[in-house]
Amino acid sequence: MSNLVTWLDRLGLETLGSRVWRGQLFRCLECGAVLRRAENSLRCGCGKAYPVIAEVPMLLPNFRSSQAAAPLTEAEVGQVVAAFGIKDDAATRARFAAIFAQTYQFDESFLEAENNYLLQRLAINREARPTVEALAEPGTGVAAFAVVRHYVPETLARGGGTSHNVRIRNTGTEPLLRFARGGWSLAFRWAEGPEAGLTPLPVTVLPGREISLPVRLTAPEAAGKGELRVVLVHADGRVLDGAERFSIAIVEKVQRPYRALDPIRGPLAADYDEDHRIGIRLVERAVNLAHARRGLEIASSSSPATCNLGCLTVNIDIDAQTMQAAQVVFEKRGYSNVIFACCDALRLPFAAETFDFVATFAALHHFADPVSVLREAARVVKPGGFVAVMCEPTGHEFERPHPQIVEVLEHGVNEQIFSIDEYARMFHAAGLRPTSSQLDDDSLKVILRR
Ligand SMILES: [Zn+2]
Repeated sequence: MSNLVTWLDRLGLETLGSRVWRGQLFRCLECGAVLRRAENSLRCGCGKAYPVIAEVPMLLPNFRSSQAAAPLTEAEVGQVVAAFGIKDDAATRARFAAIFAQTYQFDESFLEAENNYLLQRLAINREARPTVEALAEPGTGVAAFAVVRHYVPETLARGGGTSHNVRIRNTGTEPLLRFARGGWSLAFRWAEGPEAGLTPLPVTVLPGREISLPVRLTAPEAAGKGELRVVLVHADGRVLDGAERFSIAIVEKVQRPYRALDPIRGPLAADYDEDHRIGIRLVERAVNLAHARRGLEIASSSSPATCNLGCLTVNIDIDAQTMQAAQVVFEKRGYSNVIFACCDALRLPFAAETFDFVATFAALHHFADPVSVLREAARVVKPGGFVAVMCEPTGHEFERPHPQIVEVLEHGVNEQIFSIDEYARMFHAAGLRPTSSQLDDDSLKVILRR
């Protein structure tokens, strides 16, 4: 089919080619076959059906939906319409009211946090959320944790200072109280020696919940083998030892199996919006150079950055309500080159080599497993195409976390900060090669190829 589309495009029948392509776009998550639209679902020959809610296909493996506890009031619906700056009429209001009449449940708590979040983002606070401390009862159970994922390399330079993210899960029955309330900090500890470079827990971590934090590490002065562990240190001096031990080679000089990222220093971005505009310009240049026609934007939210690049973009996000709202908004604004779908970036419902480019803006750091997202991006991009990772926060900001970051973390969203070297390693692990990179203040922007 892609041959037919290419042939139609070559004949200049772009519209027809585009229409044929749209119809062939979504694939079954179970068997990979092309899905067909049938009333309010996309159906597969294998028997699997995926609902289409408010004109947005829900191509997710595990989710449930239910009626929201309290529907939006007329005034609140008006607030939503006003927030999106589209024409306020009865039909639009009815569509938004229907969107927020449903809520969505996921197996993973941070996915659920990402979902049902649009109203908060629009500052429509419908119910006062109890603070985590009000929910938590420290001192009533067993405090325990496990290392779920870490970014410590197998080799470190002797005496070197680095920072590596560690993802922990509260495996106990007691909330791990945040440091500011007299709770815990995360640290590395060598078998011989004290813990150092403590990263205070910025929020209380409830049982079952995971959090990733960058932790500073100083390698021993002597070359040889080192045994590293991850510990939680309480404000009162108690130390909680994680079970995992990492064996690390301490060497004179580290030979990386990947190319280090050496981003050019771009203009200092004034704010979030200006930073995005810089990222959009970089992607636009890459789109023009590659004569790209069809892109995928991962975690686009309701404002896809790639919507004005003159090509067709498929925009996906895990947040069902946001995708449904975006569908209404972009229809109203008269866009015919954007498609919205609710998808899991770890299981994209597309055939291999479908897109000329894949872009993501300020989103990769929200995923618990960014490498798997990058691997999926690499799978669906065409040979000769590119993957754009834009506006990712870098550094080590968890010593004095920004109040906004803490607020988002409190809500349960995954807010992570990786170092530039951690990004370089992740790109390598995903089989992607950086061809250009730029750093504006702490915001990293990288164009990658397979
Ligand atoms: Zn199927």
